[in-house]
Amino acid sequence: MQSLQQRDNAVIWHPFSPLKNTTEPVPVVKGEGVYIIDETGNRYIDGISSWWVNIHGHAHPYIAEKIYKQALQLEHVIFAGFTHYPAVELAERLLPLLPNGFSKIFYSDNGSTATEVAIKMALQYWWNKGSKEKKKILAFNQSYHGDTFGAMSISERGIFTKAFHDHLFDVIFIDTPTNTNLGSLTQFIKDNAHEIAGFIYEPLIQGSGGMRMYNADVMNVLLQSVQDNNIITIADEVMTGFGRTGKIFASDYISTKPDIICLSKGLTGGTMALGITACTEKITEAFNTDDRLKTFFHGHSFTANPLACTAALASLDLLQKDECAASIKNIHLQHQSFIKALNEKNYTVVKNTRCTGTIVAFEISIGEDAYLNDVTKGFTNAMMQKGVFLRPLGNTIYIMPPYCITTEQLREVYNALQQWIEEIEKEFENVLI
Ligand code: PMP
Repeated sequence: MQSLQQRDNAVIWHPFSPLKNTTEPVPVVKGEGVYIIDETGNRYIDGISSWWVNIHGHAHPYIAEKIYKQALQLEHVIFAGFTHYPAVELAERLLPLLPNGFSKIFYSDNGSTATEVAIKMALQYWWNKGSKEKKKILAFNQSYHGDTFGAMSISERGIFTKAFHDHLFDVIFIDTPTNTNLGSLTQFIKDNAHEIAGFIYEPLIQGSGGMRMYNADVMNVLLQSVQDNNIITIADEVMTGFGRTGKIFASDYISTKPDIICLSKGLTGGTMALGITACTEKITEAFNTDDRLKTFFHGHSFTANPLACTAALASLDLLQKDECAASIKNIHLQHQSFIKALNEKNYTVVKNTRCTGTIVAFEISIGEDAYLNDVTKGFTNAMMQKGVFLRPLGNTIYIMPPYCITTEQLREVYNALQQWIEEIEKEFENVLI
């Protein structure tokens, strides 16, 4: 009989995975709290919350129960011309939690669609207002906003997008702000504002760009200058939303609030695909007209899927519990102690240790500073042998656990990681000296 891996190999094409010479996918049969369990019974701590989505752990019975009950009631309905309780209740509950006076929620399916919707809203805002000039999007170098064409266009031009560069629209890229470049960035914004429709940014941490963390105060000055120059601000909180940075949203750390916010990933606790683009009244005002041509002509088959909205409501219930807030705080404290321990060891191969909220990251300073780094290629396998699942971004290694992880389980992750670092340190001893 063929193994699941063989059957998979015959029919499936996996995301971000080469077709040739790729590692065999591990057949997973169960999720339980922080654990991913494979078909031979091996348990792995999910140290990156399955691509950052799974904030409450796997197969959470509370969320599962709510989805089950909703599935018996209404699994899906077209969202043009119809509405339903889960969509309205989720919007009513989310709007007051969002980091600004947002007025409307637009539903879609995932993080890429959430950012696509946001840039389309910003561009059409100016089009509806009759602007002939404001047509460009401003974004950060090293940004990542998704894999569809619009989302790729507003993301860093790199190996992910290389095959499509001829087809991506022109975007103005700037560096993330520091005390040193802030003056020149604000001047640049002033000089170019006449043609810029909107500015999209990942607040505080650029995720796929390598967990690059930057300062809230300088960002605040930059955002203020963007808004003063009449540019729509779009916070992509697809990764940072729902407690990841210690507060519910990363924008909560920054005084200047966005006009549009994009959410996905942790939104449903990692159980169902759902995207949200929320905006303020300033944005909707440009669409609130009798002119049918100024309608926002965008929608997806699964817009506001009732099961996904129900999962999001259940995930919010869990997120708003005191024990979840306490756990987020504990993860942060444990991460800080881990960084301290790493720094004290003074490993030659470890650099740039850093932490924001529940995310800790550092670089391995051997080989390329890039996604195709060879040293970290065997990393995931080596860590899985130690019972921990982590997936590096090139030479950037990071931990982003589900919030239900215990101190004990975090220690297992740190210990496994430290063991691997020491193995690498030994292996490259001769090269490093
Ligand atoms: N924005 C950010 C900040 C992200 O990190 C991601 C995914 N890593 C996306 C957008 C795209 O989300 P999705 O993978 O759900 O399309």
